[in-house]
Amino acid sequence: MTTPAPLQEPLADLAGAAPRAGWSVRGLSKWSTNLQCGTAAAAFAARVDLDRLLVGTDYQVEFEQSPFMRSRGQMVEAKVRENGYAELIPILRETLGFSTTEVSARNLKQGYPPNDRGLLLRATETRHIISEILRGDLTAPNILEGAVLEAHLGPYTARFEADAIGARLGPVLHGLEVKSWPVVDGRADDPGKAAEALRQLGFYLFLLRLLVDDLGTDPDIVSSTGLLVTPRNVGLTPLVGSVRDLDREIAIAQATVDRLPDVRDYAHVPASEGFGPVSAGGGLGVQERLDRLDALTDTFGTHYQTSCLTSCGNAKFCRAKLHASGDPSLCGQAIVRFLPRVPSLRRAADLGAGAPPTDEETTSGAAELLARAGALYTERAPESPPAVPGVA
Ligand code: SF4
Repeated sequence: MTTPAPLQEPLADLAGAAPRAGWSVRGLSKWSTNLQCGTAAAAFAARVDLDRLLVGTDYQVEFEQSPFMRSRGQMVEAKVRENGYAELIPILRETLGFSTTEVSARNLKQGYPPNDRGLLLRATETRHIISEILRGDLTAPNILEGAVLEAHLGPYTARFEADAIGARLGPVLHGLEVKSWPVVDGRADDPGKAAEALRQLGFYLFLLRLLVDDLGTDPDIVSSTGLLVTPRNVGLTPLVGSVRDLDREIAIAQATVDRLPDVRDYAHVPASEGFGPVSAGGGLGVQERLDRLDALTDTFGTHYQTSCLTSCGNAKFCRAKLHASGDPSLCGQAIVRFLPRVPSLRRAADLGAGAPPTDEETTSGAAELLARAGALYTERAPESPPAVPGVA
């Protein structure tokens, strides 16, 4: 993403020495899993990589792909390109109805500098090629690898790298995603990874629709189906294509883009209160880094949920913080809904043990339910009161 010039310095203040995230649909997709967290939104706006923010502390998490999986991914991508996309062509014919016998491909992942300038050049070239396809130019590439899709999002000009876009005659545009994990007996070996890949495809297609619309063509020519290309088994070949309907994922992408944080909201944050002092590069000791993160999360707010454990590098920290305060969200959103107006699990335990409720706890109905649950529990297990997370 590029930010308007007057905002670059304040966002640099907010990020400080913290590790920065790259520009990718993957990052956008990860952020989409928790749009209600103020801290994640601030990090997204400043392009701070939360997965690496707590390196060197006990709260560090491992989200990095293993070197083995990275190299397997590169090998599968190379397989797709091998011999003029020889394995991909029949898959495109069988799954998406491509009528071509040859694929005319263009790989924008090669030949451009790996920086903002490179992304800008690739976005310009993507736009140019898509406009050729829309004009019906038969010499235009019909597979575009490493396309960069640009969208104007409030004050941002955002540029996101997609895996590949395929165009068949019509024209009809499809999103293609190549993954190295195997599909065994028609199912992904890891449903979580499959869901993440589909979310990313939803973003490609939504951003592609924005581009097509901007070029003056009906965005409905962008199909709502995407193609996942993976090895059929644990080996690298044969490759197999799985067509997926992505209406739901496209709707999520649209809702996410509509709610992108506005960088102007963070222009006032001084460097001392940003992510820099929390990071390993900020020059502070571990405890002070964690104290700064504690203050930062109080300032921006958090919204812990189960998905944080697989999507955010702050998850262990936020979970421990909720544990210490006995916040009901530690137990999931169902418990939060069960305890309206009850500020903590400690308070819930007190109400269950017969503590007098406040007016709010009475009118929300939580006090009566907890009192009845507490009475029932005492009747059935008088010797062992319920254990409450965060309550000594
Ligand atoms: S782990 Fe914490 S900072 Fe990260 S998204 Fe969840 S609540 Fe927000």
